[in-house]
Amino acid sequence: MSRALYFGLPLEGHVNPSLGLVQELVRYGEEIIYYSGDEYKEKILKSGAEFRSLGFIKSKQDKRDISSHLNPLERENRLLHYIIKVMPTILNQVKEDNVDYIIFDTQFVLGKMIAHQLSLPSVSFCTTFAFSKKKVDQKRKRLTNYKLNSALVEEQNRLRQNLSNEYGFAMPDSIMFTTGDITLVCTSKYFQPESGDFDKTFKFIGPSITDRNDTSDFPIAALKGSRTIFISMGTIVNEQPELYSSCLKAFADMDILVVMSIGKKVNIQYFGNIPSNFIIRNYVPQLQVLQNTDVFITHCGMNSTSEALYYGVPLVMNPIGSDQPMVAERVNMLGAGIILDKSEINVEGLRKAVETILSDPGFVKNASKIGESLRSTGGYRKGVEEIISFKKSKGGC
Ligand code: UDP
Repeated sequence: MSRALYFGLPLEGHVNPSLGLVQELVRYGEEIIYYSGDEYKEKILKSGAEFRSLGFIKSKQDKRDISSHLNPLERENRLLHYIIKVMPTILNQVKEDNVDYIIFDTQFVLGKMIAHQLSLPSVSFCTTFAFSKKKVDQKRKRLTNYKLNSALVEEQNRLRQNLSNEYGFAMPDSIMFTTGDITLVCTSKYFQPESGDFDKTFKFIGPSITDRNDTSDFPIAALKGSRTIFISMGTIVNEQPELYSSCLKAFADMDILVVMSIGKKVNIQYFGNIPSNFIIRNYVPQLQVLQNTDVFITHCGMNSTSEALYYGVPLVMNPIGSDQPMVAERVNMLGAGIILDKSEINVEGLRKAVETILSDPGFVKNASKIGESLRSTGGYRKGVEEIISFKKSKGGC
């Protein structure tokens, strides 16, 4: 049995999908030391890993910054600044750990840099779609072509150079997509766009849907046997009171139950009298709710999208930024949902999209087809199998 370091991006949408894999590795007998943000300490300890603090993300603003949906270059530069600051400390911490391999989040190049410094094999864990070389090049070109971004581009070049010089490390073309010796991708080949563009080092293991041991007092029994709309904008950019108000108006007089997760920053009192067919919470046990949902109104975060499709739930999509437009496009292309543009995020637009989905069984059929592909991939168990066989190929690490 061996030891590994896990470097995770401290965001809900990155931590959640990794926990099944870590838990299964620990069950297999591996020792995992998991670097993440303090707010995820409890979850990580529950998975059986040892926790170590990355020591950043102190405020909500920090969290918004590294998950920035406004300017990807700013987000990348912020991460690079952080890496420059913490590399010496982390290297010092890990030098006595005697680990055998490194696992890191594809969006967290720090992990690959540590693997390089320690001359260790590495496994990249990709919580969203993978990018082919062609896609990475296109994306870089678009980003660095922004005329207004010239200062950010220059800053990034300087930071990259600084790290390359200091650590003799060849920075990947995009620090938002760092591959490992193998890269575990949390989707199926069917759902992944252009899946033929990836070589054998990419392992499509599907989403890791695990029992989250949710002990909240959410009235899940009320959803059984009712038609249900579920609304959630995820955990980061979920401060959208106007959208929630439009949903209240759009669905209050429909013969359907509505579950609305409004995030921890919006106060439920804001909405005044709540219609009797609505259940509004700041956070819900999403996997349980989705198993009883007919239509999901979502921001198209990769996790939420995969979780819904896993259970064959079609989507009304309000992608905001980051990978969400790409995920929404793919769902739309495979006929499992409808994308609303900004001008349609109102009472009429929301109602029309929900009615269209409810009246056309094709959406459920297509969502179920993607769901079937996701379920048949194997998830975190397949991930562990891939890591074990990778270790063997390296002589047991
Ligand atoms: N989530 C949840 N309950 C909620 C809202 C979100 O359990 O009320 C979980 C959801 O199941 C998913 C994650 O939080 O696993 C959100 O990740 P996603 O990638 O969809 O969006 P992000 O929060 O990163 O924008």
